[in-house]
This record gives sequence, structure tokens and C-alpha cells, in this order.
Amino acid sequence: IGRNIDYHEAVDSTNQTAKEMAEREFAEGTVVVAEMQTAGKGRLGRKWNSPFGTGIWMSLIVRPPIAPPDAPKITLLTAVAVAEGIVHETGMKPGIKWPNDVLVNGKKVCGILTEMKADMDRIHYVVVGMGINVNDQNFPEEIRETATSLQIETGSRMNRARIAASILNDWEKNYQNFLSQGFAPVKDGWKNYAVNLGKEVSVTTFKETISGRAMDIDEDGMLLVKDATGKIHRIVAGDVSLRK
Ligand code: ATP
Repeated sequence: IGRNIDYHEAVDSTNQTAKEMAEREFAEGTVVVAEMQTAGKGRLGRKWNSPFGTGIWMSLIVRPPIAPPDAPKITLLTAVAVAEGIVHETGMKPGIKWPNDVLVNGKKVCGILTEMKADMDRIHYVVVGMGINVNDQNFPEEIRETATSLQIETGSRMNRARIAASILNDWEKNYQNFLSQGFAPVKDGWKNYAVNLGKEVSVTTFKETISGRAMDIDEDGMLLVKDATGKIHRIVAGDVSLRK
């Protein structure tokens, strides 16, 4: 991973560029990085703020030999790698909010967007996008209360290349372990950083809002939420917030 780096000053989105590359060539392990994204994306078509030179905006291309329904596990594995990279480079203890946000002191420092092309039984490619706020000193109004950067939290400017290398190292290690040993080691790593397990949450999915206690993640990385009647809901995709 990362031996082939495709560097850009500006792209629409590193995921978009990575998907186009993956369509054209066997680019496994390639990392697309950009100084800025003009149309950085989050989940569900949301926007990702990615100004010039402040953050790590990068996407990896992989062709994992796993079944398509297992692809979300790669998102959790990535969150763990980012959290580990932050620990190694800053000594701060980050948290992970299911499924894909990495937080420092309760604010979002990284978002992850995993996209894939697959048939029923085979993955053609997975593009794993990461946006990590490194040297941002301020944010647009809409995210001022919820976003942070490593520089804001540590009080010092950070070397983006070094942090990116550290995250990619951890990513590769976690990915190899996942391919050889399955999801168990990823799950253990993830639980180490989980911030909302054991807490009262409300989860909005495409069909309903569920309130209850976040109990655990299961063997597939899905969130298990127990409601007031004792029923366990298995959340495949949704927005989780803590209830006050
Ligand atoms: P959340 O759970 O934080 O609502 P999400 O997981 O649905 O977010 P993502 O796809 O990770 O969303 O990211 C998109 C959202 O993150 C945006 O709607 C915006 O609120 C917020 N955001 C956008 N850019 C940044 C950034 N650089 N740093 C932190 N947060 C951002």
C-alpha cells in the first residue's frame, strides 16, 4: 500500500479519481492524494470540507478477495488504522464513533468513505477515502462546533506526510490481519477506541429512528442497539447520536 502514490494539487474528490483509475488499470495499493478537493464527499452525498494544504485527503485502491457484503468491515478497519496513526504520531487518544468517524476530544478529526464496485459474488475494487484534518486552524460555520484538527488539539503544527505514512502502515497491517484472521482482530481494535458503546443513543436509519443502548458491534461490524422493550436492533447503516 502506498508504494504507488498518485499526487494531485487539486481534484474533485480523491475517491472519484481513485475510482476512475481502478476502472482503467489494476491499480491495487495505489494511493491518490491531493492538496485540496473541490468537491470532497462524505456519506450520503454530504460534503467534505477539504481546503488546500491543511489536511490529508487520500484514497486507497484495493481489490480484497472477500465477499461484497463484507466490505463494510474495511471501513471499520480503516477507522482503527487512523486512530492508531493518531496515537503513534501525537500520543492523543482518539475515539471512534460507529461506523466511520474518528474523534479527538469529542470532535471529528477524520471521516471515511468506502465505495466499491462489485457483482453479486465478487468485488472488482474498493476505494477507501480518508479525510483527516491536520493543520486546519478554523472551519466553516456549519461544522465549527463539531470539527477539529490535530493542530488545534495538540497546539502544534504536524507533518502531514509523516502522519499519512503512519496511517498507511497501520492500515496495511490491519488489512493483512483481516485477510488472514478475519474480522475478530479488527473488532478488538475497534472496541478499544469505541466511544458510544454502553451509552444511550438514537440511531436514524433510512426507515426509522431507534432509541436505546449501544451494546456492541457484531461479527459483521454492525451496531447492536437494545431498545426499552429489550429488543436488539442490528444497524447496518445509520446516523448515531448520543442521547442527553
Ligand atoms: P456525522 O456522523 O458526523 O454526521 P457522517 O458519518 O454521516 O457524519 P461523513 O460522510 O463522515 O458523514 O462526513 C460528512 C459530514 O461531516 C458533513 O455533513 C459535515 O457535517 C461534516 N464535515 C464536513 N467536512 C468536515 C471536515 N473537514 N471535518 C469534520 N467534519 C466535516
